[in-house]
This record gives sequence, structure tokens and C-alpha cells, in this order.
Amino acid sequence: MTIPYGRQSIDENDIEAVVEVLRGDWLTIGPKVAEFERAVAERAGTADATVVNSGTSALHAAYAAARVTRGDEVITTPLTFVATAATAMAEGATVTFADIEPDTGNLDPDHVAALISDRTAVVAAVDYAGHPADLDRLLAIAHGSGALLLEDAAHAIGSTAQGRPVGSIADLTAFSFFPTKNMTSGEGGAVSSPDPALVERARRFRSHGMVRDRAEQRYPDEGPWHQEVQSLGLNYRLPDVLCALGINQIARLDEFKRKRTAVFERYREGLSDLDLLTLPARHSDVDPMWHLYPVRVADGQRRRVFDMLRENGVLVQVNYIPVYWHPVFEDLGYRRGECPVAEQYYREEISLPMYADLTPSDQDRVIELLHTALA
Ligand SMILES: *Cc1c(COP(=O)(O)O)cnc(C)c1O
Repeated sequence: MTIPYGRQSIDENDIEAVVEVLRGDWLTIGPKVAEFERAVAERAGTADATVVNSGTSALHAAYAAARVTRGDEVITTPLTFVATAATAMAEGATVTFADIEPDTGNLDPDHVAALISDRTAVVAAVDYAGHPADLDRLLAIAHGSGALLLEDAAHAIGSTAQGRPVGSIADLTAFSFFPTKNMTSGEGGAVSSPDPALVERARRFRSHGMVRDRAEQRYPDEGPWHQEVQSLGLNYRLPDVLCALGINQIARLDEFKRKRTAVFERYREGLSDLDLLTLPARHSDVDPMWHLYPVRVADGQRRRVFDMLRENGVLVQVNYIPVYWHPVFEDLGYRRGECPVAEQYYREEISLPMYADLTPSDQDRVIELLHTALA
């Protein structure tokens, strides 16, 4: 039996909700979309949110809503999935990487402050492993330079910072509902913002930039069939079938958070005696919903420990190779050494199994193997 690093938790109600949509009239663009959007907005603590068909689409729609365009700069972290940078580049932006804080793995506000200029349109932070970035400082730095703060909260739906839900703090927040994330709709994502106008722009981008409301059309008398495109967009729609799963999953978020917190605590108790391991830090003013359990292995032993766990059926991961190490970035002129803290973090990191349905006995097996490896 293998133990993955992450996986979904699907119950009979989740299955029933999907089957019910399949028996109905709307497979897509039906009533479940608005219902899921209301549920996401409620969780994010905002008046409105829009759902899209992946976390990558959510990031792309958020950059488009921020009106990022050719010649703009986006500052982001290298300790993330490539989509955080790639979607900005798809809109023509130039990406600059700022280094991370060594304890949380999140974007370091001091590095952002040193790099930001009037070319910077967006600062894109990631809530690494579910721990919210230093959002208030990043907001002040971004706004001080006329930029917006985008939060890639693919790891962090359900997390709070100073009591406020992730989704309500940054100018734009992007969520992912991929199966390994805190909740799932199979594929899926969402964009929230405290500013309803930004959400509406992301919603338009999701469906070709199409405007159906006559009051907002340039040529409202064209005819009853008329929908007009005033800005470009794509088809990033999330079908009703998947919204139904998302609605049921988001209602289970408190259950998921309780279970993930229990996994976090059991690792802390079981691993804190291992001197070669650094366990994830948690700042006192945040309440993370942990998506990953990132440990760091000192003394150049990461590879040995990683291989040993994999050989024993524990399918650990490494999150993440610094984005600019990918050949496509190297070919654009990015060079290793740019963000030494992130590079060191990457060299030491292993993501241990972390998901709601991880059993205590499976988790104890992981803890035991780590003791064997590092004894
Ligand atoms: C998963 C993830 C994404 C992309 O989300 P998808 O739903 O897989 O497209 C973006 N950023 C981060 C940090 C992620 O973990």
C-alpha cells in the first residue's frame, strides 16, 4: 500500500450531488455556477467571486482583471508552481522574482520593496503550504507603488490572517480546486476580490469577454441575439457538473480543516525530536489550513531521505523547483543564484503526506520511517 502526498476526500453526498446534475437539464452554464460562486464568496468573505475551470485559469483571469499588459512587470516568488508566473507572461508581462522568507517560504516583503518600481503592475504572493503571506505589508508596498496585490491562494482556501479569511484581503485572490488541494471540484478555481468590479472583469474574461447586459452594450439595438465582445477573453467556464461537487466540498471545508490540523499536530509531536529536520513555521497571527506539510532536511541528506521514503511506498513530493530554473526561463535569460534563499529551501524540502483522510496509522508509518532514515 502506497501513501500519496495529497489526495481528495469524496463522500456519498459529493457523488449524489454530481449524479443529480447529470440527470438534469444543465451540464454547464446552469444554476450551479451562481450557487458555487455565492458559496466561494461567503468563504472568501467578499460580496462576489467567480468560478473558473482551474487555478491556472483563475490566475490568468486575475491578471487580466488587473489589466496586466505588455511592458508591465509582475513581481512574484520562485517557490511556486510555474502557473503563477506563466499566466502573467501570457498577458505580456515581464516577471521578476523576489526571494522568500526562510521560515514560511513566502514572498519576502523587504525583497519586494527593493525591487518594486513604477513599471510594476502586480505583486503576486503565494500562500505557500497554506500559510498566508505577509499580506498587509505586501499590500502597503504594492499600493505605495501604484500596483495591485494578487494572492495565489491555491494552497490556502480556509486559511485566515488576523482573523480575516484569505480571499478578502488582497486586491485579487486566486483559488485552485485541483484534487490535491484543500477542497476539490475535479478541476476548478475561483477569483475573489473585495472590489466587485475586479470580480466582474474576471467573470467576463472567463467567457470570451462577452457582454450580454444591454445596458452595458455599445450597440444595444443590434437585436435580441446580440452579445458583444468589448475586451478579449477565453473559455474558462466551470461546468455545472463540477460546480455541484464544489458546492458540496466547500460545505465540508471546516471538517477538512479540522482533519488537516490534526495531521499537522501529529507530525509536530512525532517529528520534533529529529534535529536534522526543520518543521514548518507558523506565525502567531495566522490560522493556516495546511495544504502541504513541508519539512526541510539539513546536511545535504534530502535526496537520501526522499528516496528512502519513496522506496517504502510513501509518495513524497518536492514543492517547488525554483520557477526560473525551468529551461524555458533559462532560455529567456534567467540565471540560477538569483534568489538564494528559495534555492536553499528547494534543496532541503520534502512534502510529507498531508490530506484530510490520512489515517493515524499511515501517518505513524511516515514518522517511523523518518526516524529510521535520520537516526
Ligand atoms: C495548483 C497550483 C496552481 C494551479 O492550479 P491548477 O488548478 O492546477 O491549475 C497555481 N499555483 C499554485 C501555488 C498551485 O499550487
